[in-house]
Amino acid sequence: MKRSGSGDEVAARCELNPAVFRRRLMKWYGERARALPWRETSDPYRIWVAEVMLQQTRVAAVVEYYNDFLRRFPTLVSLALASELEVLVAWSGLGYYNRARLLHRAAQFIMTERRSSLPSSSAELRTLPGIGEYTAAAIASIAFGESVAVVDGNVERVVLRLTGRASENTAAARGLVRAQAQALLPQARGTVSRREVQSGGGAGPSHSDNPAGDHNQAMMELGATVCLPRAPRCSECPVRELCRTRGEHPTTARAPQRSRPVACLLDLRKRGPATEVLLERRPACASVMPAMVELPPLPLDAVEGLEPALRIRHTITNTNYYVQVFSPRRLVSASSGSLASTGKRTGVAAQALRSAIPADSRALYWTRTTQLAGLPLTGLTRKILQRLKLMEKHRAALPE
Ligand code: SF4
Repeated sequence: MKRSGSGDEVAARCELNPAVFRRRLMKWYGERARALPWRETSDPYRIWVAEVMLQQTRVAAVVEYYNDFLRRFPTLVSLALASELEVLVAWSGLGYYNRARLLHRAAQFIMTERRSSLPSSSAELRTLPGIGEYTAAAIASIAFGESVAVVDGNVERVVLRLTGRASENTAAARGLVRAQAQALLPQARGTVSRREVQSGGGAGPSHSDNPAGDHNQAMMELGATVCLPRAPRCSECPVRELCRTRGEHPTTARAPQRSRPVACLLDLRKRGPATEVLLERRPACASVMPAMVELPPLPLDAVEGLEPALRIRHTITNTNYYVQVFSPRRLVSASSGSLASTGKRTGVAAQALRSAIPADSRALYWTRTTQLAGLPLTGLTRKILQRLKLMEKHRAALPE
């Protein structure tokens, strides 16, 4: 029986021709890709730094940090020779600080054991601290041209929607997605010609003679800007004719957001012309953000009924922290409604709040606000201090 036009279309959609797919994808990428700093380099070290920063972090946030970090540590050797504290200071505010520690450790290992040369294969890259399957594939393909598929959340979503396969959280299902992503990838240098890649002539990043690396970046770009998790823009999609679902794929349920109230102390004092702020260093053995510096946390029951100087929301993955910042200089008692503004009363209020800090976490010290930019502050503390204009937004004062 002769198929109708729409039947032919469905049949055509079911067969994902890799060559056609690649051509359309790369033409679109050449025209539409965002110009991002790590796409303008072929330096493996710089690509590595970008890929580590991009783990679990939005592109916009990484752009803010990437250039500063590379100004501070322009080469792998400069990173390896830095202290961990310097690396954490440069990373401060970007979150997931273990990434910075592992990046630093890997740089030291490469400098001492590999004559400062980054491994070029995904298999070898995976032996380094902090480099898992995704990061190894990204570095190996983008920096060295290895034909290995990068499968992050964006690519997985694109592949599932293209093929119409249901999302399953099993090793076998993940393996299948990887195999499908690999099947779409150019298998050797030159599979997609430079002329084909550049045929769009758009304002996107300059492409190398590296089809695998460019293809991987294009897949991630498609997932990040067009095949969006909740509302895919199928009408703008360069491969919609090849897609089985075109927006009809069931959307993966978003992880439920959690809310958590927290409180901290903002205590300031004058020492001559300088203003000092009370900070607390987290224990080196802490499971979360070890050795990072923050405003001293306060137990919620100690501040019940008090009016904070500042309320701020801070989101880390799927948790919204509703943060109340208590300052003795702006302390209002809900019962009396009075403002503790005189020197004596401020001193009493400061004492009361300071004594509420749990005794087992008193690694407290005063530091000048002019020195804050040189400390490994947590993202929340940096946000509060910037909001209150107690420190510069940009980290101009990194230690030399
Ligand atoms: S057509 Fe729609 S669902 Fe399919 S890949 Fe493109 S954006 Fe995603």
